[in-house]
Amino acid sequence: MKKLYTLFICLSCICTAFAQGLQSPAEFLSYPLGSQYTYHYRIAEYVKYVAQNSKKVKLVPYGTTNEGRPLMVAFVGSEENIARLEDIRQHNLHLAGLSSGPATLSNAPAIVWLSYNVHGNEPSSSEAGMQTLYDLVNPNNSRTQPWLKNTVIVIDPCLNPDGRDRYVNFYNQNRGLLPDPNASSREHAEPWPGGRVNHYYFDLNRDWAWQTQKEVQGRVGLYNQWLPQIHVDFHEQGFNNPYYFAPAAEPFHKDITPWQREFQNVIGRNNAKYFDQNGWLYFTKEVFDLLYPSYGDTYPIYNGSIGMTYEQGGGPAGGLAVTMRSGDTLTLADRIAHHHSNGLSTVETASNNAQKVLDEYKKYFDNGRTNPPGAYKTYIIKNENPDKLAKLAELFDRNQIKYGYGVNRSVNGYNYFTGKNENYTVNSADMVVNAYQPKAVLLTVLLEPKTFIADSNTYDITAWSLPYAYGLKAYGLTESIKPVSSTLAAAQAASVGNGGSYAYVCTWQSVQDVKFLAALLQKGIKVRNASLPFEVGTKKFTAGSLILTRAGNNRADFDKIVDETAAKFERKLTPLSTGFADKGADLGSSAVGYITKPRVMLVSGDGVSANDMGEVWHFFEQQIGYPISVIRYQDLSRVKLSDFDVAIFPDGRYANFPLERIQNWVSDGGKLIAMGGAISQLADKKGFALKSKEDAKDDKAAKKSPDLAPYDSRDRESIRSNVPGAIFKVYLDNTHPLGYGYPAYYYTLKLGDDIYDYLDNGGVNVGVLKKDSYVSGFVGQKAKTRLSAGLLFGVQSLGRGSVVYLTDDPLFRSFWENGKLLFSNAVFMTN
Ligand SMILES: [Zn+2]
Repeated sequence: MKKLYTLFICLSCICTAFAQGLQSPAEFLSYPLGSQYTYHYRIAEYVKYVAQNSKKVKLVPYGTTNEGRPLMVAFVGSEENIARLEDIRQHNLHLAGLSSGPATLSNAPAIVWLSYNVHGNEPSSSEAGMQTLYDLVNPNNSRTQPWLKNTVIVIDPCLNPDGRDRYVNFYNQNRGLLPDPNASSREHAEPWPGGRVNHYYFDLNRDWAWQTQKEVQGRVGLYNQWLPQIHVDFHEQGFNNPYYFAPAAEPFHKDITPWQREFQNVIGRNNAKYFDQNGWLYFTKEVFDLLYPSYGDTYPIYNGSIGMTYEQGGGPAGGLAVTMRSGDTLTLADRIAHHHSNGLSTVETASNNAQKVLDEYKKYFDNGRTNPPGAYKTYIIKNENPDKLAKLAELFDRNQIKYGYGVNRSVNGYNYFTGKNENYTVNSADMVVNAYQPKAVLLTVLLEPKTFIADSNTYDITAWSLPYAYGLKAYGLTESIKPVSSTLAAAQAASVGNGGSYAYVCTWQSVQDVKFLAALLQKGIKVRNASLPFEVGTKKFTAGSLILTRAGNNRADFDKIVDETAAKFERKLTPLSTGFADKGADLGSSAVGYITKPRVMLVSGDGVSANDMGEVWHFFEQQIGYPISVIRYQDLSRVKLSDFDVAIFPDGRYANFPLERIQNWVSDGGKLIAMGGAISQLADKKGFALKSKEDAKDDKAAKKSPDLAPYDSRDRESIRSNVPGAIFKVYLDNTHPLGYGYPAYYYTLKLGDDIYDYLDNGGVNVGVLKKDSYVSGFVGQKAKTRLSAGLLFGVQSLGRGSVVYLTDDPLFRSFWENGKLLFSNAVFMTN
């Protein structure tokens, strides 16, 4: 009986709900928004519920996170528009010149894309996203319903579910019975690594163009199938700040169009109207600039959209309520209300200007095809390292940048690596990127050798030019040259197919080679490498080349494993029938050593930079497929160091560094890889060869004299020693294992003015800066002087072990492709 009764109640509930129409988030979740934080799975359930119960919504999943949470967007529009969504998409791409789809579509709508919660610990926006979705769909909402006729809204309720739940779990586990507004209480102090980042501690709002993370690959992949006219990225900032919205701050990239600037103003003024009505504080035109191409505002902008960042005060320290400096209390409900107001206000502005927005959008792409920006109309990327060129092609594919091959002729152009105009010959295997194409702005921003900077006081790195990041020789041409074919002639088959050889040799010049090595080591294959270049017959090999000899691998499946692994990683091995070298060392020489299969430890936790640690973690697990043990720094005293051959200390501020213990472990044969700030724990310490670099004398004198700069120029003064991310040429000793696989130079991204004195006492100066090292990006004058000579990458022996110093981060945001081999050399090659 009881069961029947329950069933009856349930059915009745459902009937009531439908009778009343669509449930609001509060009804669905059974608590008012702002009274608690909503777990991601509940947000996903609500969005699915709305999609299932409205013909004005279409749900499109685009993947799962590393921790298995679903990623999705909801398309919202009139029933008529949702029914013809694919036609709208094709027509929109047609406007951009990226599809042969329908050229005309009656009453084509403008597309507005709203992205919530990319930083997981800026959590008010996903709550606001649910309310915004409801208000746009609710048939009884007379304000929003007219907008759906000429506007399609794409709502991504949460771009970073793993980060969000990391924060929400923390908050719910640490809050008091009633929220404590005292900012000192623990519910306002989120522990390491914080919810801002994804599972691998990547900042997803630095990854739009590079798409190294799976969340971003799925999302930006979908984004590029739509290319909306307007994109909003919802964030939070420190809780004492009022709300920030467009127009953005200088510096603007020079290729941002007058229309993109102007319409930010139109949107900003409409947002302000509602903030004024409610008496809410806000600011515009400050702090958040438009330059670095991998943000949720700049990437859309370089793709023809009006891209904007909206920042509510709050963030991880906001909790459910927090007392601000002003004495007022800021609640989660307040934060939701502000984001909600701006979401709707932005859609309203789009709807009021839909036709103009579409016309200007089309103009943007037409302009790319007929009059691309930038000094160069063609970029030639030399095919000297096919693996690296293939990685660059992959990046272009992800971003719908067109390129090709097949040009054979001599030309004159700007050589990125010499900084001079030169004559040279283009070969059919070289990549040709013609600037006359829909994505002209994006490709110019990514490829131009020097970024134009109107003002140096910027928020992020100021240089990212891809030939330097990928280590690929490139030329910029003022002449327009079109590629002849869209594909590269197929390379020869990868497999060996030569069972019975004395040995096989594989190149060592790319991450693909590292993956091959990592797989072989795990399969128990013994791999050796040449410490010097060598020649057998007509075949020439560089130092570092991987050598797989039958000797030492006496197992029946040797050829089979080598063959399969080579095929898997598309390695073309050279079989050798003799170990006799015509030049250089024979294969049995002591100059051809074994590569040991290292047991690697990565230090994490409080004090360690989560971003930098995460890059190393992601590199091992997701890029080269090699196991790594992650150890908390606080547990180091309890860890048996002899269980490991390699210890990696990422950038960080290490309190109470156990110098003596680490030194003893190195002396016993360990290899310490110290990166960024970790190096400062070793500099000038007994036993370590590294010495701090003294500032020039006049700098010292300057430090002693009183600072008489006017108060309002303080910002400018601090810029003098600032390096927000600039490219420098490193002179590399490629005869040392740390430099294997490189030419005698390497382009590094400097994120600060860290540099050391040259090593002596048995240390090897592998990578150094010289007077002419500066290439591109903003560097303050003081820093430029400091960075004109000294050590960036070095190795010293210590007892039976060694220390590798990596001052700069070769894995930066995982997009600095050319650094990955350098880092792999530190792990696998140096000893
Ligand atoms: Zn943010």
